[in-house]
Amino acid sequence: MPLQIAVIGGGINGVMIAWQLAQAGARVTLLERGALMGATSSASSKMLHGGLRYLEHGRLHYVREALQERAWWLAQAPHLAEPLKLVFPIWHDDPRGAWMLGAGLTLYDFLAHGSGLPDSERLRAAQVLAEHPDLRREGLRGGYAYWDARMDDHALGLWAADQARAAGVEIHEHAAVDRIDTQGLVVNGDTSRTYDRVVNAAGPWAAGLLVASGVSSSHALQWVRGSHIQLKRPCTSACVLQAGADKRIVFVLPWQGGSLVGTTEVEQEGPEHQGPTDAEVGYLLGIVNRRLITPFTPADIVARFSGVRAIVKSANSASQASREAAVERRGRLVSVFGGKWTTARALAREVAKLTLA
Ligand SMILES: Cc1cc2nc3c(=O)[nH]c(=O)nc-3n(C[C@H](O)[C@H](O)[C@H](O)COP(=O)(O)OP(=O)(O)OC[C@H]3O[C@@H](n4cnc5c(N)ncnc54)[C@H](O)[C@@H]3O)c2cc1C
Repeated sequence: MPLQIAVIGGGINGVMIAWQLAQAGARVTLLERGALMGATSSASSKMLHGGLRYLEHGRLHYVREALQERAWWLAQAPHLAEPLKLVFPIWHDDPRGAWMLGAGLTLYDFLAHGSGLPDSERLRAAQVLAEHPDLRREGLRGGYAYWDARMDDHALGLWAADQARAAGVEIHEHAAVDRIDTQGLVVNGDTSRTYDRVVNAAGPWAAGLLVASGVSSSHALQWVRGSHIQLKRPCTSACVLQAGADKRIVFVLPWQGGSLVGTTEVEQEGPEHQGPTDAEVGYLLGIVNRRLITPFTPADIVARFSGVRAIVKSANSASQASREAAVERRGRLVSVFGGKWTTARALAREVAKLTLA
């Protein structure tokens, strides 16, 4: 008899876990309280990437894995994911200079070796301006061009859900789970059912579901809101801007005929969010306008959205905390904390191994 498994959460992690378990022969039911890809997984920066910032924290293994997964998505769904050239300009007052960026990108190229995308290249100021004629030339020292990939996160997540369905996963949307336990119980409205295994992949809500169910865990979550604004003016190509003293970076990406700018990092008390605040919008516009000849105004904004990162607590400051995932098994219950869109398949493999053990 195949194992009967319930997966809770229809974000990219839940869908990839369900798909993986079904491929391994389990009979899988996925329960999503809203619509598939309705939360964090469709509020991302739309990047399939290794994550340059992780290099600064020495997480080479994590970056390497993410770059391999980037290649996998590109190969599997070329209609929804494509290579993306990004220009990283450097001005004289940017916190990271050419030497530091060059070293980081050389390492990034090395870790991406074999993934099929071109290596990074150093650009003179004139070459940066040829790519981005709207950037300010005063103080511009040149920059780098490097490659990552971008995706339509909502559509790619739904594509993955279709693959999961084709592998036999039964998907129920608008099916909120109220309570679970370590014996395989899943309570969903008036229905309660016991499964051989339950996977709690409720993303930013995973810890809260455990608390509501009275199940203890050795992991806690921290919640960080990230917001984006979508502007009607198109950008000629993707670019990365350094925010300034806080050393953050902000992406400006071509998106739906305009530009997508993000993201912020605002610590929250819980997983729910109130959407981008005016302060966040001002922060993003400020970073971009500092470097543009013709600034954006609030009237250029056509859309704004936020998502909440679930970060496994491991450090005092959110931006230094680990973005890696944690997986924990208690009896028949497996809980997943954190993760990243790009590495959802790799995480799903790890979860499937622990679930089926
Ligand atoms: C601003 C921002 C930008 C990002 N950009 C990138 C990026 O460019 N590239 C990248 O690789 N990663 C990125 N990430 C990270 C990535 O988006 C997340 O790691 C990923 O989407 C998390 O997926 P998830 O399935 O765990 O969570 P979610 O997508 O939030 O899914 C969890 C699901 O569980 C459901 N749920 C919750 N409680 C219950 C319940 N009781 N019963 C049933 N269902 C329930 C929710 O409705 C939700 O649909 C970004 C994150 C943020 C916040």
